[in-house]
Amino acid sequence: MIKGYQSSIIKVYENIRASEEKLLKLRREEIELKIPEVIKIENEIARLCLKLSINILNNSENKDRYLNELKEKITDLRIRKSELLVSNNYPIDYLELHYRCSQCKDTGFISNNKCICYKQKLVELYYENSDLKEILKKNNFENFNIELYSSRKTGNEPISPKKNIEDIASKSWNFIENFSSSNENLLFLGNPGTGKTFLSNCVAKELLDRGYLVIYRTAETLIHDLKHIRFNNDDVLEDLLLNCDLLIIDDLGSEQITDFSKTELFNLLNRRLLKKNKMLISTNYDLEDLLKIYSERISSRLLGEFTLCNFFGEDIRIHQNIKNKRY
Ligand SMILES: [Zn+2]
Repeated sequence: MIKGYQSSIIKVYENIRASEEKLLKLRREEIELKIPEVIKIENEIARLCLKLSINILNNSENKDRYLNELKEKITDLRIRKSELLVSNNYPIDYLELHYRCSQCKDTGFISNNKCICYKQKLVELYYENSDLKEILKKNNFENFNIELYSSRKTGNEPISPKKNIEDIASKSWNFIENFSSSNENLLFLGNPGTGKTFLSNCVAKELLDRGYLVIYRTAETLIHDLKHIRFNNDDVLEDLLLNCDLLIIDDLGSEQITDFSKTELFNLLNRRLLKKNKMLISTNYDLEDLLKIYSERISSRLLGEFTLCNFFGEDIRIHQNIKNKRY
């Protein structure tokens, strides 16, 4: 697991337990004011329980009888306490510590295994860190409308934009379904407004919901991050960009292109490819342009290791139809 996540989750559980303890304290204070007898009973139960545990170790005569008497007293007091709470319209467990997950008692673990709630917390944390939390409420497969693409062939394209986007959507689903078993990477190419960012967001949401760590960066913010890593030795950020399950780089070619950016980008691509950590890159440029903009080394990586998806269609028509969605 990525450095930092384990400790972040442990912190989340610590905070849950601390806040539940605080709530219990407030409930006790309330009961102390309204039904002080209940608190007296609680204190008496605590005293008897302590007595019980001390006497279990003793080997005196009549030990068993004495212990049974103590246990009976404790039981009677507990019943009395419950009766008092209920007759005053309080729930029977009002003075118990409440757990948000009764399975692991808000520790995240059941013996040494991770509880189901641990994974849910990880997904929430991944969402927070993906940079996509808000946009994915709109940009997801549920809102993916294939009807926005024309079914008429235009220009030199061999198939209609609609058929083309169907093929790309199906490639994207394959990518998702085989995510843990294949080494596939995706390269989305095409003019602005043809749905590359939208579809990459759809892929991100599916994978995040399946518990994968997806990190989204525009090429510009990625280069900014890479600079930060280089000049500030930010190991945590480097680990995240290098080891997240899917790194999405949006709008490749829109960043300021320098020798530094080209070298750092190549290093990142190369290191992720060596580790078989997957990427989804989108760009408004075609292959020829990419070759001109970037070094041979970068272009050959993109050509050799990525499944190419060429987006085409009428930008304006799509934009008119989905004013509120980000393409
Ligand atoms: Zn749990």
